[in-house]
Amino acid sequence: MAATSASAPILIVGAGPVGLVLAIDLMRRGVPVRIIDSLAAPTTESRAIVIHARTLDQLEAVGVVEGLIAAGVKTSGVQLHADGKRIARVPLDTVASRHPFTLTTAQTETERVLAERLGQLGGKVERGVTLIGLEQDEAAVRASVRHGDNGEERITTPWLIGTDGAHSGVRQATGQKLEGTFQGESFLMGDVDADFDYDRGSFHIFLSPSQPAALLFPMAGRRARLFADIPEGTDVDRKPSAEWLREALAARGAHLKIEAPHWVTRFQIHHGQVLRYRIGRVFLAGDAAHVHSPAGGQGMNTGMQDALNLSWKLALAYRGRASDVLLDSYHDERHPVAAHAITFTDKLTKVGTLGSGLLREMRNQAMKYALMLPVSQHAIANEIEEQNVNYRASPIVAGTDGHAQGGDFLRDVPELAVTGVLQSADVAEAVRHVGIVVPKPDGALPSFDLPAGIEVVTGDDVTREVGKQVGLTRTGGFVAVRPDGYIGLIATATEADAARRYWRRIEAAGA
Ligand SMILES: Cc1cc2nc3c(=O)[nH]c(=O)nc-3n(C[C@H](O)[C@H](O)[C@H](O)COP(=O)(O)OP(=O)(O)OC[C@H]3O[C@@H](n4cnc5c(N)ncnc54)[C@H](O)[C@@H]3O)c2cc1C
Repeated sequence: MAATSASAPILIVGAGPVGLVLAIDLMRRGVPVRIIDSLAAPTTESRAIVIHARTLDQLEAVGVVEGLIAAGVKTSGVQLHADGKRIARVPLDTVASRHPFTLTTAQTETERVLAERLGQLGGKVERGVTLIGLEQDEAAVRASVRHGDNGEERITTPWLIGTDGAHSGVRQATGQKLEGTFQGESFLMGDVDADFDYDRGSFHIFLSPSQPAALLFPMAGRRARLFADIPEGTDVDRKPSAEWLREALAARGAHLKIEAPHWVTRFQIHHGQVLRYRIGRVFLAGDAAHVHSPAGGQGMNTGMQDALNLSWKLALAYRGRASDVLLDSYHDERHPVAAHAITFTDKLTKVGTLGSGLLREMRNQAMKYALMLPVSQHAIANEIEEQNVNYRASPIVAGTDGHAQGGDFLRDVPELAVTGVLQSADVAEAVRHVGIVVPKPDGALPSFDLPAGIEVVTGDDVTREVGKQVGLTRTGGFVAVRPDGYIGLIATATEADAARRYWRRIEAAGA
C-alpha cells in the first residue's frame, strides 16, 4: 500500500500550529498540500505561549525561527517563590541546544509567522472549509468537506492528516478516541498587561502553604500570562476576570499591577491519547492525538514535533518510496513521546496543586533544597526543554550502544553544517539524509556502500566533531542524520553494508 504514488495533494485538516508546520515542511520538500480550517479567520486566543529548545532546533531547518524569535522573548530560567520569597532558580540556558532558551510568544503570533512562511512557499490555508466525513480504501482517502454556505466538495487524496485539535473529527471518523482521564484540575488563566518587579527573562512559580501554585510567564512588552489553580469549593459560576487573577496571585504572595486583560478564561485539564496515530492512509497529530495539562508548556511543542517526524516520511510516501515500516514508525516514535509528556505534565500539575497545607509546606522545603543542586537543575531544564526526546526504541533506527545511539537528536554545531544541508532540501532531493564518514584513528576513511538518498558531508573538523559526539573516534565509522535531525544510523568502520540495510528498512520494496 505505501508504495502507491499519486499526484493529488495531501490533505491536512486543521490549520493550528501543528497543521501549519506540517504543511510548510511538506511544501518545502516539494509535496503539494491542501490545508483546510473551519475557522473563517485565525484564532485570536493566545493559548500556548512557549516554544522549547528542541522544537526551535528542529524548526530551524523549516525557516521560521528568526521570525518567531522576532515575535517573542527569550526566557532563560524558572524562579520559584514561596511566601513572597525567591527560594530557587533553575537555569534553562544550560541545555545542549543551538537555542538554549524557551521562546515565549502568543500562539496567535506563532501561527502568523507560520502562515507567512507557508505563503512564501506558495501555500495558503483554505478557510471556512470543514471536514464532515471521510472514508478510505487501499488506494486513497475520500474526504467530504463543506465550504461555508457554498456547498460541499469531495476530495480524493493519497494521505489525510488530522491536525484538527482536541475535538478532532478525523479522530472520530477513524474510530479512534482519547483514552485517559477527563476530570482534572480547574485553572484560571489570562493574558494581561502588567507591571511587576520580577525578572522578565524568567518564568515564575509562586508556592504558598495556604494555596495551590500560581504561575507568571512574562511575554513581549508589558504582556504576561498568568495561571492559578482554582481551589475546590470556588463558586462554579464565577466569571473569569482580571480582578480574580489579581486576587489569586496576591493570595500566593505575588504582587503585580494588572491592567488591560487581553484574554481571561477558566478551563479544566484533561489527559488523554489515542491508541493509534496511523489508521491506514490517515494520520493523527497534535491535540487530535494527545491532550494534557498545559503545565510545562509541552502540548503545542509535542504536536509540532509530531509534524516534523511525519513530514519527511510522508514526502517519501508521496513519491512512492516509503515502506510501511517507515510510515508505522511515526506511531512507534511519537506515541511514547506524548505518553511521557502526559506523565510529566500530570506530575507537575499534582506537585503544583497539592491539597493540604502541610504537604505544600513540605513540598516547598523539599524543592528549595533539591533545586540547589546543579544536577537537579540540569535534569529539570532538560525535561522542560524536551532534550530527552529520542527514538532509540524505534524499529527503523540502528546504532551502537555507545554514549550516543541511533534515534538520538544530533547536537549540531555551526561548523557541522548538518542543519544547513537539511535546511536546503530541494525538490529533487527533498527527503535526503545527511551522511558523515568519520575517519579511523590513523586518518583513513572507512568505505561504506551508500544509497543515493544519503548526501555525504565531508571535512575533517565536521567529521571528527560528529565522531566525538557519537563515540566513533576509536573505530571510525558512519552516521546518517535523518531529515528531521535525528540520527537514523551509527555504524562502525567494519559495518560496510549498514547504510544499505538501513535504507532497505525505510524504502518501499521495488522503489
Ligand atoms: C483555552 C486554551 C488554552 C491553552 N493554553 C495552553 C498553554 O498555556 N500552554 C500549552 O502548551 N498549550 C495550551 N493550550 C493547548 C494548545 O493550544 C494546543 O496544544 C495547540 O493549539 C495544539 O495545536 P493543534 O494544531 O494540534 O490544534 P489546534 O490549535 O486546536 O488547531 C486545530 C484547528 O483545526 C480546526 N478544525 C477543527 N475541526 C475541523 C474540521 N472538522 N474541519 C476543518 N478544520 C477543523 C480548528 O478550527 C483549529 O484551527 C491551550 C488550549 C486552549 C484551548
